[in-house]
Amino acid sequence: MIRLYDTLEREKRTFEPGDPKRITMYVCGPTVYGRAHIGNARPAVVFDTLARLIRHHYGADSLTYARNVTDVDDKIIAAAEAEQVDPAVITARYENFYLEDMRALGVRDPDIAPHATAEIGAMVAMIGALIGKGNAYAADGHVLFEVASDPDYGSFSRRHRDAMIAGARVEVAPYKRDPADFILWKPSADGVIGWDSPWGRGRPGWHIECSAMIREHLGETIDIHGGGLDLIFPHHENEMAQSRCAHGGKALARYWAHNGFVDMGADKMSKSLGNVIGVDELLAAGHRGETLRLALLSSHYRSPLPWTGKLVAQSKATLDGLYRVARDAAAGAVDDGVIAALSDDLNTPLAMARLGAIGDASALKASAQMLGLLTMDADAWFRGGDSEGIEALMEARAVAKARRDFAEADRIRDALTSEGVLLEDGPGGTTWRRG
Ligand SMILES: [Zn+2]
Repeated sequence: MIRLYDTLEREKRTFEPGDPKRITMYVCGPTVYGRAHIGNARPAVVFDTLARLIRHHYGADSLTYARNVTDVDDKIIAAAEAEQVDPAVITARYENFYLEDMRALGVRDPDIAPHATAEIGAMVAMIGALIGKGNAYAADGHVLFEVASDPDYGSFSRRHRDAMIAGARVEVAPYKRDPADFILWKPSADGVIGWDSPWGRGRPGWHIECSAMIREHLGETIDIHGGGLDLIFPHHENEMAQSRCAHGGKALARYWAHNGFVDMGADKMSKSLGNVIGVDELLAAGHRGETLRLALLSSHYRSPLPWTGKLVAQSKATLDGLYRVARDAAAGAVDDGVIAALSDDLNTPLAMARLGAIGDASALKASAQMLGLLTMDADAWFRGGDSEGIEALMEARAVAKARRDFAEADRIRDALTSEGVLLEDGPGGTTWRRG
């Protein structure tokens, strides 16, 4: 039995999928115009872990997990203009980087990765349906969702109307009947990416993308809708309203799950604040994907996660300890305590504490792999991949020592230490390990 905190109901609820043989989960994916930072990686790792748990309980084929790729957006258009290339060049580049970075963190690819630009027909159809039902209107080449037509609008974020208007950060455009109305379709100028539609050549708004793709790939009501906490308003409020109105009042999702932010001191990590650390930068600095994954899972997913060098160092030390116990044992049965912790609203800190208490190597291996950890050979973990370069430096250090150039020998040792490589001089010669 899995219990999950439902952001809509504001309480932990027992997870009861519509059909346990065909469970559906949708997570809002990346807008692909730049490298992912470690805050962007948190939802990918959290929902990957939830997907592993669901498959453990219900079977490997029980879950269809969709994560979309937003590949049409004003920021993408701006990036393409800045480089004088087609937007598809930008989106292909950064989608590949995103997948590369997430795979390095042990995130399995979702079952379905719908791309907005490939699903315009479904969006146009849903917008048409919303106009037909009196929930949307066309004006000046735009189509807007009419918030006043939906009495339940605002029920998710529980915002007052004034806060919703301020939160939407809208300029009150002349074509809007109400400042809170939001865009479903907007016109594209000549030379800007766009598609023909009944309302003229243009492109979809962001919110309609998810509603239409969920309907297309997973159905009208899905089991779990996930994303970062910052998406509750306006994105998920709007997705929910569109889908509910288009589908005769049916709920978009049975459970809504949201992860907290990764923060840097007092501030949320975000591109607009300029305080981001790229996943690629952390990997290039020599941190392993598993270390970063464990760091991301070290706090409960709904709590804020302060990102510090100390957290990364502690995560590395924890993994060193686990690898020392598990070594190269074959994976056995998963520990019940780890499953119980994860099944209680994905309590990964408790699951980690349980891992640390498992003495049996094969049980530890299997339980850690549920969390996407201990996936490397222990030897490769401790020695690292770049042993040739290290051995060349050790050889140079031996030569320096032989000619009694101890300053040079120490310099080489210090350089290796600063890269996390520890040398141990013994009677049989010098060996090395990762510190
Ligand atoms: Zn979405």
